[in-house]
Amino acid sequence: MRRQTAPNAACGPPAGMQTLMHQELHAMLKGKTALITGSTSGIGLGIAEALAALGANIVLNGFGDAGEITQLRIDLARRHGVNVLYDGADMSQAPAIESMMKTALGEFGAIDILVNNAGIQHVAPVDAFPLEKWNAILAINLSAAFHTTRLALPAMKQRGFGRIVNVASAHALVASPFKSAYVAAKHGIAGLTKTVALEVAEQGITVNAVCPGYVLTPLVKKQIPDTAKARGISEEAVVHDVLLAAQPTKQFVTVEQVAAFTAFLCGDAAASITGAVLPIEGGWTAH
Ligand code: NAD
Repeated sequence: MRRQTAPNAACGPPAGMQTLMHQELHAMLKGKTALITGSTSGIGLGIAEALAALGANIVLNGFGDAGEITQLRIDLARRHGVNVLYDGADMSQAPAIESMMKTALGEFGAIDILVNNAGIQHVAPVDAFPLEKWNAILAINLSAAFHTTRLALPAMKQRGFGRIVNVASAHALVASPFKSAYVAAKHGIAGLTKTVALEVAEQGITVNAVCPGYVLTPLVKKQIPDTAKARGISEEAVVHDVLLAAQPTKQFVTVEQVAAFTAFLCGDAAASITGAVLPIEGGWTAH
């Protein structure tokens, strides 16, 4: 794993141990293929970067400017010497997901590491929650993972190896008002994680959910004005009194921390971790 530049890096493992962990992960992931949904931005992009740095071929997915995505694909491949494919499948559409999975499986033979990360948010009281937002959040944040999982598993089973990491949320463990669809979908993905983990436990495949607290990505930045409106407070108050108030550390979780945690779950040291719904939220759910 690439050296992190977290402010508390001095408290991390000794440099020698970091190198050893990196070497073990690199040996394991080199030449494997990782598909990360929603990897043109935020957490998904950070995970793609971390797995590419460990030698995995990457399938990127997500929306964005076509030129910027091409540049991202070329840059990732060149810097890490891996193959990088992009498929812009809309994760709310089962046929598009099926087509993306078919292309990726055709290209690489198997998707060894599947990271279900694509997600959207909408903040509104439940009795004013727009129907189309409810349907989109359930489709993208939950059903998409069912489709990618069912389509990735046969090749994983054939190889006797697989890593599925579902990027859930602290909202897979606790609720917040005005996020009914998101909280329902994230609790749902925790259930999907546990169920699939049990089904494939003897086949070298682990299935886990990582549950970040607030990470300052476009997804969070976009919900600040809506939360301010729903609660009748200023945007600044949303950051300090709502978002960071939930996290005892009073700090945002970083993309790099979630990416490093995900990479760890893909390695051999994590082979006995499965069916777990794992918080990375600055102590939020310890309240
Ligand atoms: P982001 O908005 O930065 O990135 C979301 C990604 O998903 C983008 O690449 C976007 O193009 C893609 N995407 C959105 N709709 C899509 C669709 N229909 N089809 C394909 N791709 C689509 O958000 P983020 O904060 O990086 O969130 C990533 C995941 O992490 C989400 O599942 C989110 O719920 C989860 N999460 C985020 C936070 C946080 O604080 N940012 C906390 C906990 C969990």
